Order: sequence, then C-alpha cells, then structure tokens
Amino acid sequence: MNRVEILSQGDEVITGQTVDTNAAWLSEQLVLMGFDIVRHSTVGDSIEDIREALSQASQRVDLVICSGGLGPTDDDLTAEAVALLSGSPLEFDAQALALMKDMFVRLNRSMVKANEKQVYLPKGATRIDNFWGTAPGFIVSYKHTLMAFLPGVPGEMKAMFEHGLKPELLKHFDLQPSRRIIFRTTGVGESNLQEKIGKFEHEHVCLSYRAMGREVQVKLRFSAQCKAEELDKHCRYMADILGDCVFAIEGWGQGPVGNLAEVVVALLAAKNIKLVCAEGASGGEFMRLVSLSAKGMSFIKKGYYFAEPNDLHEMLNLQGGSPEEPHYFHLAHTLRSTSQADIALIITPFDSVKSKEGDSIAKSAQCFLVSGHGQLCVSDQVTGSDAYCQHAISYRALNLLRKYVL
Ligand code: ATP
Repeated sequence: MNRVEILSQGDEVITGQTVDTNAAWLSEQLVLMGFDIVRHSTVGDSIEDIREALSQASQRVDLVICSGGLGPTDDDLTAEAVALLSGSPLEFDAQALALMKDMFVRLNRSMVKANEKQVYLPKGATRIDNFWGTAPGFIVSYKHTLMAFLPGVPGEMKAMFEHGLKPELLKHFDLQPSRRIIFRTTGVGESNLQEKIGKFEHEHVCLSYRAMGREVQVKLRFSAQCKAEELDKHCRYMADILGDCVFAIEGWGQGPVGNLAEVVVALLAAKNIKLVCAEGASGGEFMRLVSLSAKGMSFIKKGYYFAEPNDLHEMLNLQGGSPEEPHYFHLAHTLRSTSQADIALIITPFDSVKSKEGDSIAKSAQCFLVSGHGQLCVSDQVTGSDAYCQHAISYRALNLLRKYVL
C-alpha cells in the first residue's frame, strides 16, 4: 500500500486562525485514488520545524503532500526548508517567472519584486504550474519518498492538485482506486439512520456517516477488489433500506444527484411546476438556496418576505379575518390564486419554545403547502445560531416540497 502523510504549514493554521480544510480535502482525494493516509501534521512558519517534519515523514511514508508557505513574504519558508533538507540550492526558474508575469497581466495588477522569490525552486524539482494564483508548486524526490508542495490558498491548491499533481501521482504510483457512493439524506437523524441500517459488515466495502446540519450522508467506500455486481447489490440494498429520506445518490449513476435545492428544482422542472413562496422564519434563505441552482428562479412565480403574519395579510390585501391569528392555509390559497402558481408555500415566522421556567430553549415554525390537489402542514423545532435556524427551516420546507412533488 502506498502510504501518505499530509503536512500543513503556517502559523495561521497552527494557531487555529485558519481551519485546516486542505488536509481534509487532500485526504478524501487521495483515499479515492487508492492511497493509505497515515498521518496529518501541522507546523508553523519555522524553517527548522518544516525541515524536521519532512525528514521524519520521509522515514515513514512513500508520499508527503505539503500545503502552504510558498508565498512571497519572509514567513513563507517551505522552498528554503526543502533546499536545506535535500542539500540542493534554490534555482531561478525562468518559465515560472514568465507564467507569473502573465498572471499579473491577466489580473491587471503590477508585480512587485517580492513575488520573484516564489520562482526560486529547489534544484531538480519538477514544477507544478499555477494558473490560478502566483505561487508555483513543485515535486521533489528525497531518499525513497516523493514530496509535493502546493500553495495554501484552497482554490489554488485544489486546482493544482487536479491538473498538475494528480497526473504525476498516477504516473508514479501503482494505485488501486476505490469508489465512493454517497447517499444524501435529510429528515432523519444520524442515529436513526444507524438504527435503520444496523450492522453493515461486508468484504470490500466500508460504511461511514457524515452529518452536516440538516443533511446526513451515508457513505459507502468500495475497494478496487469489489465487483460491479456486488457494488450494485449493496447500493440497491442501501437505497431500499433508507427509503425516501434519500434525496440524491452521488457516484452510483442511479437516482437524482445534487444538493437538496438542485434536486427540488429538477423535480419542479420535470413536472413544469411553478411556485410562489412567502418566507417568515427563513428570512429569504429558501429563495437563496433555490436561486443558487441553475434555472432555479424560473420556477418561482413570486417571493415574499414577511416579519409578522399581519404583514402578509396586508401584502395580500385581504379583507376580514384576524391578522393576529392568521389562517395560513387561507393565506396560501390566496397566494396561489393571485400569483397563478401551481404550489404556494408559506414558512411562518419563528415562535419561541419555552422551558417550564420560561427560558427560551428552541424556535418553532410551520411550513404550509397548498396545491390544486390538496394542502399540508409540517411543524419544526430548531436550535442554534440565527443563520443556522434559517437554513434548517428552509431545508425542512425544501424537503416538504420534494416529497409532495414526488
Ligand atoms: P500565498 O501565495 O497566497 O501566500 P501560500 O502557499 O504562502 O500562498 P499561505 O500563505 O500559507 O499559503 O496561506 C495562504 C492562505 O491560504 C491563508 O491565509 C489561508 O487562508 C489559506 N490556507 C493556508 N493553509 C491552509 C489550510 N491548511 N487549510 C485551509 N486554508 C489554508
């Protein structure tokens, strides 16, 4: 097995100012490629610490991938640490400079002398071009270990991994890539999913869970030895057992793909359904999620935001009834008919849920849905930051819509 260590570099990372997302992202890619990740480590902006970390890693693994420390400032020391480790001096790379100059022209920015520091690479290194930023990366061989260096900025690091480093790794290592299938679910908690699935122990497949707010992912990683029929059998079993809380399946080639809003928009598109929506608790987050998916807004007839039930009553120009005790179904029917939409959705403002002692412990809201075929309502309770609560109730509304349209 090809063993890998990931080294993240920078004072910001070691002091917790920057969360090390690079190591997590790189690990996911490398596992899928068939590498065995054995360690993550982090060092600050100290040339000796970087040298020592690389030297120790070279005694343990076949590949080290390091991110950060390739910038133009005095605290960017990675290339110097590699030169110190390998005894190869830093050499000026004319092609890297030409590329960097092109980049500054494209960005319409002037290049300063300090940037030139970035085009001095350890002698004998293979350059990884950076078309997304300024700092080139590089690969060196040290003893029996291949060492790759990428910039810290996540967007640059990812693009350079995909387009520059990954092809080199595929040439260099004999890999047996694994395959990952992700069942994206919502509406059922992680522990309930675990309960549904029970024990899942099979050769060549590894099950894991990942909770991200209102979405829980059930992930199956299949080793290269797993046959296609066996993979299909496990995926079908998982899809059956999880049922309709699965809104998308990534990597299998069957079922919908994308995030919840994308899946809902695809359903609206397939059935040519137009929606009108009035948002209280979600504060516009529902519309924001829909608008982020391609063509999402073309299925929205109209959108309203209201802070108080009264406002919605007034906006719809309703006569009679009591705005303090709104009949949301009635409001939703009015919304639907006045905007000539197929479905009207109302997310009410939040109410505070109180403990016996009168402390506010959660927020509750309801989602009302009305179509030409019927009406329904679900209630939800959420806790957390305001932004999280807005997101969570929007997810609830999206899922209600998904299930209704299905
Ligand atoms: P630059 O040329 O931009 O200076 P660099 O290779 O020197 O790139 P750093 O200066 O170490 O990279 O980091 C640049 C930025 O990238 C940091 O401010 C931080 O926002 C982000 N970054 C660095 N390391 C990581 C990491 N491990 N995970 C996530 N983000 C990171």
